Amino acid sequence: MSTTPATATHPETIQTDVLIVGAGPVGLFAAFQAGVLGLKCELIDVLDRAGGQCTELYPEKPIYDIPAVPGCLAQDLVDRLLEQCAPFAFPMHFSQRADGLGETANADGHPRMLVTTDAGKRFDVAAVLICAGAGAFAPQRVALPEAAALEDRHLHYAVRDVSRFAGKRVIVAGGGDSALDWALALRKVAARVTLLHRRDGFRAADHSVASMRAAVEAGEMDFVIGMLGSLQTDDSGALTGAGIKTRDGEQTLPADELIALYGLVSEPGPIAQWDMDMRAGRILVDTTTYESSRRGIFAAGDIAFYPNKQKLILSGFHEAALALRKAYHYAFPEKALVHVHTSNNAALKEKLTHA
Ligand SMILES: Cc1cc2nc3c(=O)[nH]c(=O)nc-3n(C[C@H](O)[C@H](O)[C@H](O)COP(=O)(O)OP(=O)(O)OC[C@H]3O[C@@H](n4cnc5c(N)ncnc54)[C@H](O)[C@@H]3O)c2cc1C
Repeated sequence: MSTTPATATHPETIQTDVLIVGAGPVGLFAAFQAGVLGLKCELIDVLDRAGGQCTELYPEKPIYDIPAVPGCLAQDLVDRLLEQCAPFAFPMHFSQRADGLGETANADGHPRMLVTTDAGKRFDVAAVLICAGAGAFAPQRVALPEAAALEDRHLHYAVRDVSRFAGKRVIVAGGGDSALDWALALRKVAARVTLLHRRDGFRAADHSVASMRAAVEAGEMDFVIGMLGSLQTDDSGALTGAGIKTRDGEQTLPADELIALYGLVSEPGPIAQWDMDMRAGRILVDTTTYESSRRGIFAAGDIAFYPNKQKLILSGFHEAALALRKAYHYAFPEKALVHVHTSNNAALKEKLTHA
């Protein structure tokens, strides 16, 4: 890989200490941590807004396992993280995918990296923190020819607004946590909810499965074992029902809305070509620093891989906090990072208190 004086040849290159790739919950907390440590950073995300999986997949699902937050909706968590890092006013660049990586050096000869995005932005940085989650992801779509015309009208791959389903007959298809959680939540507003899954076993938390079975037993919702075979519409193109293939043949389920929660199709994208050790599309990190096998590139959150890694938001917060402490040494090779609590740093305290 060539070493070039990036900013000399490209005056528009953005110079900062750390580039955070991914503005999901972990990337947002990383931005706050960077500010606390005295690092400058910029964030990029391939989506057009912050929040990652929380915003895209389950904005109205409650989260109960964030320390000191007994319960909040996923979108509320994202809003609080945005509020928390707002005092530092770090720029966020949306609709940009991290694509290219090159090596460069500053005037003192310290190594730096040059990251380019598919929208043509260039970042000259001391370190990169990859918080890319499941990668650039998209929902696994319903593979029926009539599905495309119904998308965003009566066929949904995420629930963004619960009230949209009030009084409707809703089929929730899938057997994971989101399918069960949404079927349970929507039974309180919909006219009728049917959970549709190809078998009587689930990839979901035991308590969700138990709650679903209890709700079916109590007559509050239905559960059908089968697979989508066809989608039926009226003359206006509105969904009226779905043909379901079951072990006993085909049956029709009347429905106004179909929510297909089959999970994500994700690809690490160009990051996978950045010459780091990867494990099944995730970045292998050293758990003392969360640095990848490539100097100056760190990973935190769902994209990071190490033995016993838990894909939880709180794990990502910890990983990002440690990664940035090592990144500090790359940004300021001559300075020691002195540990100070935020409340003991007068300037920081002032900034955070008056935000
Ligand atoms: C239904 C469901 C319920 C869940 N419930 C909980 C829960 O209750 N508690 C909990 O702790 N966890 C829960 N999780 C897991 C939690 O959502 C993840 O652990 C968390 O979102 C990981 O955060 P992240 O920031 O690492 O990644 P993500 O949230 O996936 O964000 C990654 C971001 O990076 C962007 N990106 C990817 N590649 C690029 C690229 N090349 N360039 C630019 N941007 C890129 C993506 O667009 C995305 O916005 C749940 C997950 C699901 C699916």
